[in-house]
Amino acid sequence: MSDVRNVIIIGSGPAGYTAALYTARASLKPLVFEGAVTAGGALMNTTDVENFPGFRDGIMGPDLMDNMRAQAERFGAELIPDDVISVDLSNEIKTVTDSAGTVHRAKAVIVTTGSQHRKLGLPREDELSGRGVSWCATCDGFFFKDQDIAVIGGGDTAMEEATFLSRFAKSVTVVHRRDTLRASKAMQERAFADPKISFVWDSEVAEIHGENKLSGLTLRNLKTDETSELPVTGLFIAIGHDPRTELFKGQLDLDDEGYLKVDAPSTRTNLTGVFAAGDVVDHTYRQAITAAGTGCSAALDAERFLASLS
Ligand code: FAD
Repeated sequence: MSDVRNVIIIGSGPAGYTAALYTARASLKPLVFEGAVTAGGALMNTTDVENFPGFRDGIMGPDLMDNMRAQAERFGAELIPDDVISVDLSNEIKTVTDSAGTVHRAKAVIVTTGSQHRKLGLPREDELSGRGVSWCATCDGFFFKDQDIAVIGGGDTAMEEATFLSRFAKSVTVVHRRDTLRASKAMQERAFADPKISFVWDSEVAEIHGENKLSGLTLRNLKTDETSELPVTGLFIAIGHDPRTELFKGQLDLDDEGYLKVDAPSTRTNLTGVFAAGDVVDHTYRQAITAAGTGCSAALDAERFLASLS
């Protein structure tokens, strides 16, 4: 059985590395499980990040995450590129089991496992991520000035993205599988009233085209099976996110959409000594800077909790 650590952090995006940095600088010697395949989190899959403060000329997503990782490590965070496969968080000493079956123990746990954007599941989708294919208009809209863009989806997020993108784009085509939108009436009305936004109903993306950059889409009408070409240089996929909370079901309280519930503005979950931060909690902002911000809050909450034990 391992020694009892002060704090274990599960997840390695901006939230996890920021929590690691703060707890390491507070001499708490955090142990961080970074994930086996996706250490570094969502920004490892993108190119330019222009909206993380402190980088006047922007920074590549993987470089930003490497810097965060190195900064946390410099102050003594112990980083393990492995998945946590089970947890028991209900007792005073919490246990976290890695993929080799080793059980790690800690007085506090910070959960920063992020969320996974839903994909279309098409060839070229991943290769062209950051090269025309995006899941975040706030992050990438600026790169698409005067270009033709497609937005996929029919909910509030899709309408919000389409309306936001129409500020920059030459045209925005919303492609939706049905003939009505799921979005709220107000969102729909705003999108319908926007002269730059048009709609392709009852249709899905059948193919994504482009070598190093997106050049267009083949759409398929689900009622007639007819296909058509849509030449676009931007594709925003807005069909939802899945928070990575499977591991915590039955222990931590989740909201209706499966995100972890915290006692905001703190990062406390329903279990004493367990804190959560970043996109696994947040379905509103979903930015690197907000994830880093709440990662900091979780570290400070954990620090105060640990101090209260002694
Ligand atoms: P994540 O970054 O998702 O990290 C979670 C980590 O937890 C992952 O590494 C995962 O492997 C790990 N993990 C999950 N489960 C386990 C487990 N069981 N055991 C161990 N580890 C686990 N935001 C911006 O501000 N600017 C941008 O330009 C920008 N561009 C983006 C481009 C793309 C393509 C995407 C997808 C997102 C972009 N975002 C951008 C959003 C931003 O990346 C996220 O808001 C941010 O990464 C969330 O941070 P997080 O730490 O909460 O989670």
